[in-house]
Amino acid sequence: MESSSPSAPRPAVEVYDTTLRDGSQREGISYTLDDKLRIADRLDAFGVSYIEGGWPGSNPKDMEFFERGRARGWKHAKLTAFGMTRRANSRAEDDKNLQALLLAETPACTVVGKTSVLHVTEVVRTTLEENLKMIEESVAFLRSKGREVIYDAEHFFDGYALNPAYALDTLRAAQRGGARVLVLCETNGGGLPWDIQAVVSKVAAELQHPLGIHAHDDTGCGVANSLAAVLGGARHVQGTINGFGERCGNANLSVIIPNLELKLGFQALPSGKLSEVAELSRFVADVANVTHDAHMAYVGRSAFAHKGGIHVAAMRRHADSYQHVAPETVGNVMRVVVSELSGRGSVLSKAEELGLKIGEGADLETLNEIKAAEARGLSFESAEASVALLMLRRAPGYTALFEVLDYEAQVGKRQGTEMYAEGIVKVRVGTQVFHTVADGNGPVSALDAALRKALAPMYPAVEHMRLADYKVRILDGTEGTSAITRVLIDSRGEQGDWSTVGASPNIIEASMHALVDSIEYGLVKAGVTHATGPASARAQASKPAAAARSGSSN
Ligand SMILES: [Zn+2]
Repeated sequence: MESSSPSAPRPAVEVYDTTLRDGSQREGISYTLDDKLRIADRLDAFGVSYIEGGWPGSNPKDMEFFERGRARGWKHAKLTAFGMTRRANSRAEDDKNLQALLLAETPACTVVGKTSVLHVTEVVRTTLEENLKMIEESVAFLRSKGREVIYDAEHFFDGYALNPAYALDTLRAAQRGGARVLVLCETNGGGLPWDIQAVVSKVAAELQHPLGIHAHDDTGCGVANSLAAVLGGARHVQGTINGFGERCGNANLSVIIPNLELKLGFQALPSGKLSEVAELSRFVADVANVTHDAHMAYVGRSAFAHKGGIHVAAMRRHADSYQHVAPETVGNVMRVVVSELSGRGSVLSKAEELGLKIGEGADLETLNEIKAAEARGLSFESAEASVALLMLRRAPGYTALFEVLDYEAQVGKRQGTEMYAEGIVKVRVGTQVFHTVADGNGPVSALDAALRKALAPMYPAVEHMRLADYKVRILDGTEGTSAITRVLIDSRGEQGDWSTVGASPNIIEASMHALVDSIEYGLVKAGVTHATGPASARAQASKPAAAARSGSSN
């Protein structure tokens, strides 16, 4: 690790985010205009240097993004629009694509051009000389209109391997045109770090001009190649949050940035912003509707999770004994994973992490309960909220905030109608009993809606929680037992995310256990200790409320 004195300024690396353009090429991702604006707002607040908003020449949605983006006051980032060099044998000022870049009215434009003789002669089918003019004139044209220009040298490393002199000539053409930074693109993603570093070093020595890197992950080295390029002299790194992108993805900024700042001593973000990277990573996954990779370096939920008994015991003595950086530096948290493999230390650590005081011997009792429950099919590894409730429910003086007395789910289809699902619950809160009905798009969402509806008058905090993910796993039955269904529910509220688990031979029962845990834990997490809603103030005597039919679906 390169260390520098705290007062000495660290060398800067520009972060160029292309989550909204190259990142949106990932299969299954389709951002709405509002999604793009929300992501751009967060990237700006996070402090990246550039946000590539899209390709205005390619589709109206991207052009609209720039129209809307123009009105926003960007704090850190410059918005850039992406496009190609002019067509062969034409004039830059007549080029539709370059015109679209101007219409985007961004302070910076990113122009991609050909580096490889193979692409020039076989794909574009023009002369090597004409390609150099296309690059220089396109860059110069945008410069003449007051735009800052970032030049992306497509297939740079492949082109350099084929004909290094010509590859350098294309960069010189962009340099003559007035490009501020020359970005060497590893377009096919096939390179390895030592080769990337060697080539970037040679180009840096040859051109004496600011260089950037744009890598993909096809060798699993997108992050490594980007860092190698920085070691070779690049000071501008392009990539995407979570490594979203075509094929195996783009270089992952969520990992590159912590490496640059924590391992290599560069400044990639404004001071204090690195601790927001984990949250940003989850946010972008959420908006993209992609499950966040729990095992992603630095930002994954499991990046600082410890399960083994020896690790946990050592961590209790010294927090740094089994982690390479402090999780808080990237906004993550150390977690102890409690499972049947755990020792008492894991339970004690979990209780401390959750801020619970547990009684003498309760750690052993909890551990035994966990082991017995896991034998029945539950798995607490990723259901920390259920572990917390297990401990909480044993804690002296704890009374459950509500009790589900009855529940019922119905699904069906009647002639001439759509499928319907209805959930009915009877819940006791203190001395009152609530009996509610709600519709849903399936039995579990109907029960969830009915439960929330029953609890909302007493616990308004349930309005701020929602189901984020619902996973079902069928565990094979062993001799003499039927298959067990395990349901894992991820929930989200103002206080963050939490996960709960339920298991039963019946999927509805398993779901209901996980749902009840989810809501009870959410209320505890929100600091609710007793009913606070207006209904509680009325202090009515116990009487079953009439079943209220809800027309809304959830
Ligand atoms: Zn790319």
